Amino acid sequence: MFVAYDQNGKQVNLADRKWTSQKLEQLRKQTVFYCPTCTTELDLKIGTIITSHFAHKKTVGCSAMKSEAESEYHRIGKLDLYEWLQSQKDLEHVLLEPYLKELKQRPDLLVSVGGKSYAIEYQCAAIDGKVMNKRMTTFYNADIEDIWIIGAKAIKRINAASFTLTASHWACARYHESTLAPSIISYCSTQKAFILLQHIIPFTNRSVVTNVKKIPLQNALIFDLFTSSSFTKQQQKEWINKMKHYRLYSSRYKTKETGHLNQEIYRRNLTSIAYLPSYAFLPLKANYLFTSPVFVWQGWIALYLSELRVHEKFSTQRIYSFLEEKITAGRITSRKVYKINFSHYHAIDSYLITLSRLSVITKIEKNMYSKHRAMYWSQKTEELLEEDVRIIQNYLVYEKEEV
Ligand SMILES: [Zn+2]
Repeated sequence: MFVAYDQNGKQVNLADRKWTSQKLEQLRKQTVFYCPTCTTELDLKIGTIITSHFAHKKTVGCSAMKSEAESEYHRIGKLDLYEWLQSQKDLEHVLLEPYLKELKQRPDLLVSVGGKSYAIEYQCAAIDGKVMNKRMTTFYNADIEDIWIIGAKAIKRINAASFTLTASHWACARYHESTLAPSIISYCSTQKAFILLQHIIPFTNRSVVTNVKKIPLQNALIFDLFTSSSFTKQQQKEWINKMKHYRLYSSRYKTKETGHLNQEIYRRNLTSIAYLPSYAFLPLKANYLFTSPVFVWQGWIALYLSELRVHEKFSTQRIYSFLEEKITAGRITSRKVYKINFSHYHAIDSYLITLSRLSVITKIEKNMYSKHRAMYWSQKTEELLEEDVRIIQNYLVYEKEEV
């Protein structure tokens, strides 16, 4: 940590530019330092190669100690962000590691703009779900918006448009109160650049396609972090690659959930899970509302629709109930997203509307559809791979119109 109190109760902020190693040596001789959170005595670690920082003398169970496990990568990043925020216009206050006594919280940074406060956390390690929930609730109740910037090093990049996300990353993602896909803000303290993952569409819970934007810190405006983008050509290509990989190596995607779906497909004499119709892989913006892979929840709906006769009517409510049953039975998992009014019902709505645009079903009236044509279950991989490309391209024509 960078902020402590001296023996006169005066705040010492090591991020202030006035501190040279020599001046810190002098200061260390003159005073002792205390933790703003737990008030125990701290050591001042003066660095020539590492960044100077404070550390607790021994294990005292202070909540501020989490930041002592911080890596140098984290410490440098926090200082970069602090200086960068200070250079931004329109920010009223930029505070480093302020201890908010009433909330018992100590965000990395706190900024105010237009009377609204934002707590910023530069998160480089995995975070415990309980700790995170408590923090989010506390800030939410205090009307402070929390913004998570992930250490870019902690996110595994597969290729230009594909990443592997963990539960912590999903928890730190930004969800929007509109029909936008989630996004992640990350910062790399080695490259001195923000790496923004925009329009994140999960194929499975871990494997996602996304549009990556790299913005050097020196050129970045705070507004840039909150921009959004639409599904790019590169994402489209990567999505089709993922479908192909799935078709060819479906056994590698084996989980309890895929097992149940496969059993059901087999029971109905409809080949196997490797041959799911292309319609079970649509890269919807709302896909994140399920933790299950795209082909599991969309696959169950496709299976349901396969059973209907052509022109048979069905209500949205029937699909809701059908999926609710599967969720209760542990066949599908939905994602609970904090602070957002969207739930997996929104994803189901979006899926049905898309299927009607693709002429698989027909919308008759509000929340009422009929099956338009039979869903073809091919058993030829070659044929399916071609169909996959065609369906995804068609889908994107409609998605563009929607935007
Ligand atoms: Zn402490």
